[in-house]
Amino acid sequence: MDALATTVPTNVLDDFCAALLSRYKENWPPAETSLAKDFAERFAPELFPNTEQMIQFASRLGISVSFKPLPDDLHGCNCSCDGQTIVFLSEQPVFTGSHEHTLFHEIREVMEYCFCDQGWPTLKPSELEKRADLFATSVRMARLTKEIGRYIENAQSIEQTWKRWLIFAGVVIMGLGIGLSYAMLPHFEKNPRVSK
Ligand SMILES: [Zn+2]
Repeated sequence: MDALATTVPTNVLDDFCAALLSRYKENWPPAETSLAKDFAERFAPELFPNTEQMIQFASRLGISVSFKPLPDDLHGCNCSCDGQTIVFLSEQPVFTGSHEHTLFHEIREVMEYCFCDQGWPTLKPSELEKRADLFATSVRMARLTKEIGRYIENAQSIEQTWKRWLIFAGVVIMGLGIGLSYAMLPHFEKNPRVSK
């Protein structure tokens, strides 16, 4: 499947990186979780995006997404040329949520190129893969936390106490399960044969 989205200039992400720079310049580099939280707040990704929603999300950031067969140990990669940025994702996701995690991972790498271009890298090149994974997990966590907060807020209006607590418990258990799957995904991706 080749789902190359319309290519648009990458200035949205450049502008976002410039805003982060001015916000955190006094205390550079910011924590990865802070970058992820700001990213999730600014761009509000879907909680469980389908392929089309992921392509549209990336497109809003000026990034095209293309699904290609990639080597087994490569889940995605990115390249920028003539002001256009493309993220390639493996045609077959290793696990549910792999495409989404990899997309955020690649976006974090593109962000790092922006920071470097402006003379303010946030990490050593050897740390990039690990930090991009942490960013991807943290973006998904930030969005999940926000959604859980919304459910709990809505549940507060339920009059029957037992029903209210049942929904609280259900939401917390579901949130913990999903959060754990987000946190474990990079590990499973690196050890697919062990985990299958
Ligand atoms: Zn990478």
